[in-house]
Amino acid sequence: SCEGSDMPSVEGRDDDAMQVQSWRESWRKFWPLAFVLGSVAILTSAGGLLALLCSRKKRARTTTARKLQSQTSFNQAWDAELGRKVPSGNVDPLARLPTHWGMTVEQLELFHAIHHERLQSYCREHRLAADKTHVCMEPACRHKHGAAKYRALNDSDSLTDLDELHPTMHVVVDLIIKPFTDIDGGVLGYAPLLNKANPLKPTVFVSHCWGEKFPDFVRTVTNHLPRDTVVWICSFALPQNLDINLLIGQGELCESPFHQALLQASQ
Ligand SMILES: [Zn+2]
Ligand SMILES: [Zn+2]
Repeated sequence: SCEGSDMPSVEGRDDDAMQVQSWRESWRKFWPLAFVLGSVAILTSAGGLLALLCSRKKRARTTTARKLQSQTSFNQAWDAELGRKVPSGNVDPLARLPTHWGMTVEQLELFHAIHHERLQSYCREHRLAADKTHVCMEPACRHKHGAAKYRALNDSDSLTDLDELHPTMHVVVDLIIKPFTDIDGGVLGYAPLLNKANPLKPTVFVSHCWGEKFPDFVRTVTNHLPRDTVVWICSFALPQNLDINLLIGQGELCESPFHQALLQASQ
Protein backbone atom coordinates (compact mmCIF):
# COMPACT_ATOMS: atom_id res chain seq x y z
CA SER A 1 0.00 0.00 0.00
CA CYS A 2 3.00 2.19 0.70
CA GLU A 3 4.29 1.53 -2.80
CA GLY A 4 0.78 1.73 -4.06
CA SER A 5 0.31 5.09 -2.40
CA ASP A 6 3.68 6.28 -3.67
CA MET A 7 3.12 5.18 -7.21
CA PRO A 8 0.47 7.65 -8.16
CA SER A 9 2.54 10.53 -6.85
CA VAL A 10 5.62 9.36 -8.77
CA GLU A 11 3.46 8.82 -11.79
CA GLY A 12 1.98 12.23 -11.20
CA ARG A 13 5.46 13.73 -11.02
CA ASP A 14 6.39 11.92 -14.23
CA ASP A 15 3.25 13.31 -15.80
CA ASP A 16 4.28 16.78 -14.70
CA ALA A 17 7.77 16.19 -16.02
CA MET A 18 6.34 14.95 -19.30
CA GLN A 19 4.07 17.92 -19.53
CA VAL A 20 7.02 20.26 -18.91
CA GLN A 21 8.97 18.29 -21.44
CA SER A 22 6.22 18.60 -24.04
CA TRP A 23 5.87 22.37 -23.37
CA ARG A 24 9.61 22.72 -23.83
CA GLU A 25 9.43 20.74 -27.02
CA SER A 26 6.57 22.73 -28.43
CA TRP A 27 8.31 25.96 -27.34
CA ARG A 28 11.44 24.77 -29.12
CA LYS A 29 9.30 24.07 -32.15
CA PHE A 30 7.41 27.29 -32.08
CA TRP A 31 9.88 29.84 -30.75
CA PRO A 32 10.89 31.01 -34.24
CA LEU A 33 7.24 31.74 -34.89
CA ALA A 34 6.92 33.49 -31.51
CA PHE A 35 10.06 35.44 -32.27
CA VAL A 36 8.70 36.58 -35.62
CA LEU A 37 5.31 37.49 -34.12
CA GLY A 38 7.02 39.40 -31.30
CA SER A 39 9.23 41.31 -33.71
CA VAL A 40 6.25 42.17 -35.87
CA ALA A 41 4.40 43.44 -32.80
CA ILE A 42 7.36 45.59 -31.72
CA LEU A 43 7.95 46.96 -35.21
CA THR A 44 4.26 47.69 -35.68
CA SER A 45 4.01 49.60 -32.43
CA ALA A 46 7.21 51.52 -33.24
CA GLY A 47 5.82 52.38 -36.69
CA GLY A 48 2.52 53.29 -35.12
CA LEU A 49 4.27 55.60 -32.70
CA LEU A 50 6.19 57.26 -35.54
CA ALA A 51 3.04 57.64 -37.61
CA LEU A 52 1.27 59.07 -34.57
CA LEU A 53 4.04 61.62 -34.04
CA CYS A 54 3.99 62.61 -37.72
CA SER A 55 0.22 62.87 -37.92
CA ARG A 56 0.18 64.91 -34.73
CA LYS A 57 2.65 67.33 -36.30
CA LYS A 58 0.59 67.46 -39.48
CA ARG A 59 -2.63 67.87 -37.53
CA ALA A 60 -1.08 70.76 -35.61
CA ARG A 61 -0.34 72.48 -38.91
CA THR A 62 -3.78 71.98 -40.40
CA THR A 63 -5.50 73.05 -37.18
CA THR A 64 -3.46 76.26 -37.14
CA ALA A 65 -4.61 77.05 -40.66
CA ARG A 66 -8.18 75.97 -39.91
CA LYS A 67 -8.27 78.02 -36.71
CA LEU A 68 -7.17 81.04 -38.66
CA GLN A 69 -9.82 80.38 -41.28
CA SER A 70 -12.70 79.78 -38.91
CA GLN A 71 -11.98 82.02 -35.94
CA THR A 72 -10.55 84.94 -37.79
CA SER A 73 -13.13 86.30 -40.14
CA PHE A 74 -11.56 88.35 -42.85
CA ASN A 75 -12.82 91.58 -41.42
CA GLN A 76 -11.17 90.88 -38.08
CA ALA A 77 -7.90 90.05 -39.81
CA TRP A 78 -8.28 93.11 -41.97
CA ASP A 79 -8.88 95.39 -39.00
CA ALA A 80 -6.02 93.81 -37.10
CA GLU A 81 -3.69 94.39 -40.02
CA LEU A 82 -4.82 97.94 -40.64
CA GLY A 83 -4.76 98.72 -36.93
CA ARG A 84 -1.19 97.63 -36.59
CA LYS A 85 0.86 100.77 -36.42
CA VAL A 86 4.54 100.62 -37.08
CA PRO A 87 6.49 103.12 -34.99
CA SER A 88 9.45 104.19 -37.10
CA GLY A 89 11.85 103.68 -34.25
CA ASN A 90 10.85 100.06 -34.02
CA VAL A 91 12.07 99.10 -37.47
CA ASP A 92 15.34 97.22 -37.73
CA PRO A 93 17.61 99.18 -40.13
CA LEU A 94 18.08 95.96 -42.11
CA ALA A 95 14.36 96.09 -42.99
CA ARG A 96 15.21 99.03 -45.26
CA LEU A 97 17.49 96.88 -47.40
CA PRO A 98 15.94 94.99 -50.35
CA THR A 99 18.30 92.12 -49.56
CA HIS A 100 16.27 91.56 -46.38
CA TRP A 101 12.77 91.75 -47.81
CA GLY A 102 12.09 88.06 -47.33
CA MET A 103 9.28 86.13 -45.69
CA THR A 104 8.96 82.47 -44.76
CA VAL A 105 6.87 80.00 -46.72
CA GLU A 106 4.90 79.55 -43.51
CA GLN A 107 4.08 83.27 -43.43
CA LEU A 108 2.83 83.02 -47.03
CA GLU A 109 0.69 80.05 -46.05
CA LEU A 110 -0.79 81.89 -43.07
CA PHE A 111 -1.43 84.96 -45.22
CA HIS A 112 -3.37 82.74 -47.59
CA ALA A 113 -5.28 81.06 -44.77
CA ILE A 114 -6.35 84.42 -43.33
CA HIS A 115 -7.39 86.02 -46.61
CA HIS A 116 -8.54 83.09 -48.75
CA GLU A 117 -12.22 83.19 -47.81
CA ARG A 118 -12.57 86.90 -48.36
CA LEU A 119 -10.60 86.83 -51.59
CA GLN A 120 -12.92 84.16 -53.00
CA SER A 121 -16.14 85.90 -51.98
CA TYR A 122 -14.85 89.24 -53.27
CA CYS A 123 -14.14 87.70 -56.66
CA ARG A 124 -17.52 85.93 -56.72
CA GLU A 125 -19.34 89.21 -56.12
CA HIS A 126 -17.41 91.35 -58.59
CA ARG A 127 -16.71 91.37 -62.29
CA LEU A 128 -13.87 92.93 -64.23
CA ALA A 129 -14.63 95.75 -66.67
CA ALA A 130 -12.51 96.32 -69.77
CA ASP A 131 -10.70 99.20 -68.03
CA LYS A 132 -9.79 96.81 -65.14
CA THR A 133 -12.34 98.41 -62.81
CA HIS A 134 -13.99 96.00 -60.38
CA VAL A 135 -17.76 96.08 -60.85
CA CYS A 136 -19.84 95.33 -57.75
CA MET A 137 -22.52 92.79 -58.67
CA GLU A 138 -24.44 93.08 -55.39
CA PRO A 139 -26.69 96.15 -54.96
CA ALA A 140 -25.18 97.02 -51.58
CA CYS A 141 -21.60 95.78 -51.82
CA ARG A 142 -20.37 94.56 -48.45
CA HIS A 143 -16.73 94.44 -49.42
CA LYS A 144 -13.83 96.72 -48.66
CA HIS A 145 -12.13 97.43 -51.98
CA GLY A 146 -8.71 98.46 -50.73
CA ALA A 147 -6.80 100.19 -53.49
CA ALA A 148 -8.89 98.67 -56.28
CA LYS A 149 -10.78 100.87 -58.71
CA TYR A 150 -14.44 99.88 -58.37
CA ARG A 151 -17.93 100.96 -59.26
CA ALA A 152 -21.52 99.79 -59.04
CA LEU A 153 -23.17 97.87 -61.85
CA ASN A 154 -24.81 100.23 -64.35
CA ASP A 155 -27.99 99.80 -66.35
CA SER A 156 -25.83 100.21 -69.42
CA ASP A 157 -23.54 97.33 -68.41
CA SER A 158 -23.82 94.20 -70.46
CA LEU A 159 -22.75 91.07 -68.62
CA THR A 160 -20.97 89.82 -71.73
CA ASP A 161 -18.62 92.82 -71.51
CA LEU A 162 -17.72 92.05 -67.92
CA ASP A 163 -15.13 89.37 -67.34
CA GLU A 164 -15.07 87.00 -64.40
CA LEU A 165 -12.80 88.34 -61.65
CA HIS A 166 -10.15 85.82 -60.65
CA PRO A 167 -8.18 85.96 -57.37
CA THR A 168 -4.92 86.89 -59.05
CA MET A 169 -1.88 88.61 -57.56
CA HIS A 170 -3.31 91.89 -58.90
CA VAL A 171 -6.38 91.47 -56.68
CA VAL A 172 -4.28 90.37 -53.69
CA VAL A 173 -2.09 93.46 -54.00
CA ASP A 174 -5.00 95.89 -54.47
CA LEU A 175 -7.17 94.41 -51.75
CA ILE A 176 -4.72 93.38 -49.09
CA ILE A 177 -1.11 94.34 -49.62
CA LYS A 178 -1.57 97.99 -50.58
CA PRO A 179 -3.86 98.90 -47.64
CA PHE A 180 -1.70 96.94 -45.21
CA THR A 181 1.49 98.67 -46.30
CA ASP A 182 0.01 102.15 -46.56
CA ILE A 183 1.67 103.37 -43.39
CA ASP A 184 4.84 105.38 -42.81
CA GLY A 185 4.59 106.75 -46.35
CA GLY A 186 4.37 103.24 -47.77
CA VAL A 187 8.14 102.86 -47.82
CA LEU A 188 8.07 99.21 -46.79
CA GLY A 189 6.45 96.30 -48.55
CA TYR A 190 4.43 93.56 -46.87
CA ALA A 191 7.30 91.20 -46.00
CA PRO A 192 9.67 93.83 -44.51
CA LEU A 193 6.76 95.35 -42.59
CA LEU A 194 5.69 91.99 -41.26
CA ASN A 195 9.25 91.20 -40.21
CA LYS A 196 10.30 94.73 -39.31
CA ALA A 197 11.69 93.65 -35.95
CA ASN A 198 13.45 90.62 -37.41
CA PRO A 199 14.17 91.13 -41.13
CA LEU A 200 14.72 87.91 -43.06
CA LYS A 201 17.34 87.40 -45.74
CA PRO A 202 15.85 85.36 -48.57
CA THR A 203 17.54 82.24 -49.87
CA VAL A 204 15.06 81.56 -52.65
CA PHE A 205 13.62 83.93 -55.24
CA VAL A 206 10.12 82.99 -56.27
CA SER A 207 9.11 84.34 -59.64
CA HIS A 208 5.46 84.42 -60.51
CA CYS A 209 3.02 85.68 -63.04
CA TRP A 210 0.63 88.35 -61.79
CA GLY A 211 -2.21 86.82 -63.75
CA GLU A 212 -1.86 83.46 -61.99
CA LYS A 213 -4.52 82.58 -59.41
CA PHE A 214 -3.14 83.26 -55.95
CA PRO A 215 -4.22 79.94 -54.39
CA ASP A 216 -2.39 78.10 -57.19
CA PHE A 217 0.70 80.20 -56.57
CA VAL A 218 0.66 79.46 -52.84
CA ARG A 219 0.16 75.76 -53.50
CA THR A 220 3.12 75.72 -55.88
CA VAL A 221 5.36 77.38 -53.32
CA THR A 222 4.26 75.26 -50.35
CA ASN A 223 4.50 72.06 -52.38
CA HIS A 224 8.09 72.73 -53.36
CA LEU A 225 9.71 74.46 -50.40
CA PRO A 226 10.05 73.66 -46.69
CA ARG A 227 7.99 75.95 -44.48
CA ASP A 228 10.98 77.70 -42.92
CA THR A 229 12.47 78.68 -46.29
CA VAL A 230 12.83 82.45 -46.59
CA VAL A 231 11.54 83.52 -49.99
CA TRP A 232 11.65 86.74 -51.97
CA ILE A 233 8.37 87.41 -53.77
CA CYS A 234 8.19 90.74 -55.59
CA SER A 235 4.57 91.49 -54.72
CA PHE A 236 5.28 90.91 -51.02
CA ALA A 237 8.78 92.37 -50.93
CA LEU A 238 8.42 95.66 -52.81
CA PRO A 239 6.65 98.77 -51.53
CA GLN A 240 3.53 98.46 -53.69
CA ASN A 241 2.27 101.96 -52.89
CA LEU A 242 5.34 103.63 -54.37
CA ASP A 243 5.93 104.53 -58.00
CA ILE A 244 9.06 102.38 -58.02
CA ASN A 245 6.90 99.58 -59.42
CA LEU A 246 5.86 101.70 -62.38
CA LEU A 247 9.48 102.53 -63.14
CA ILE A 248 10.66 98.94 -63.17
CA GLY A 249 7.55 97.56 -64.80
CA GLN A 250 5.05 95.97 -62.48
CA GLY A 251 4.54 92.33 -63.18
CA GLU A 252 7.64 91.90 -65.29
CA LEU A 253 9.84 92.37 -62.29
CA CYS A 254 11.35 88.92 -62.28
CA GLU A 255 13.03 89.62 -65.58
CA SER A 256 14.09 93.16 -64.67
CA PRO A 257 17.70 94.20 -64.02
CA PHE A 258 16.59 95.24 -60.53
CA HIS A 259 15.47 91.70 -59.77
CA GLN A 260 18.72 90.32 -61.14
CA ALA A 261 20.74 92.77 -59.05
CA LEU A 262 18.87 91.67 -55.94
CA LEU A 263 19.46 88.07 -56.83
CA GLN A 264 23.19 88.66 -57.01
CA ALA A 265 23.26 90.80 -53.89
CA SER A 266 21.84 87.99 -51.84
CA GLN A 267 24.40 85.44 -52.91
ZN1 LIG B 1 -17.79 95.94 -54.43
ZN1 LIG C 1 9.30 88.10 -58.90
